[in-house]
Amino acid sequence: MISSLPKWVNNLFENSLRPNVKVLFVSDISSQIKKVSFQGDISKMNFQVGYANVIRVSETEYRNYTVAHHDIAEGILEIIFYIHGNGVGCRYINTLREGDEIYISLPRGRNEYDPKVKQQFIFGDETSLGIACSFLPVLKQNGHQFQFYFELGEENKEAPGILGLENFTVFSKNGLFRNEKWIKDLPILKASDWQEANFILTGNVKSVQVFRKVLKETATGKILSKGYWLEGKKGL
Ligand SMILES: Cc1cc2nc3c(=O)[nH]c(=O)nc-3n(C[C@H](O)[C@H](O)[C@H](O)COP(=O)(O)OP(=O)(O)OC[C@H]3O[C@@H](n4cnc5c(N)ncnc54)[C@H](O)[C@@H]3O)c2cc1C
Repeated sequence: MISSLPKWVNNLFENSLRPNVKVLFVSDISSQIKKVSFQGDISKMNFQVGYANVIRVSETEYRNYTVAHHDIAEGILEIIFYIHGNGVGCRYINTLREGDEIYISLPRGRNEYDPKVKQQFIFGDETSLGIACSFLPVLKQNGHQFQFYFELGEENKEAPGILGLENFTVFSKNGLFRNEKWIKDLPILKASDWQEANFILTGNVKSVQVFRKVLKETATGKILSKGYWLEGKKGL
């Protein structure tokens, strides 16, 4: 997905990129994490775990975000945004107030949920809290064993609990997931019954790459990796 469109392309499609949802509530989960509820006609949206929606964050720029919860009947969807402070997307989201109207695309991407696999392991950072929230009800309903591992900044460590997530472990965001040896010693990789789990890796591209490399050497389960952002790169 390209993150910006030339102005002339934008003008050509202007009508289909007009605001289609309205902000209902904004809640602060931490000083850097906001949960925003939007309302609109979402009846044509096909929500699957792992899909992302593109949000128009300026006249020509678009960014990917994950729907954490949705209610088709009420026309409501919720997204958890990390306000990291460096980009046009997070600055725009930080200005949103009740009643503002914005454009959110149809969801698309790869379904990350395989109902046939008993153990499901989900790794990520602040940008992955949305996919974790969308996974949780499905995992509980279908009787999976599941574990969430998050690497989070100090100010965001309470966020998984506040969002109602379960079976999560929080790690400091200080490079632990760049250390192959340290990753190899994680309890989840030592547990024989987790060898054949599905490993869903999201968030920081570099952490995802290192974790994936270790998993390929140590586990037999399927690895689904999708980096959500890369240091120094605009809009993945
Ligand atoms: C499939 C998918 C689903 C996603 N779901 C979510 C979601 O639900 N919630 C969410 O908050 N994000 C989500 N993201 C990540 C989000 O799209 C990126 O973080 C995006 O770069 C934010 O755009 P921006 O304009 O704020 O920053 P950009 O203009 O894209 O980047 C500007 C600078 O900020 C840095 N940057 C970007 N993201 C981060 C970050 N997370 N932490 C620190 N620095 C960063 C970049 O490296 C760059 O240097 C998702 C991404 C993908 C691909």
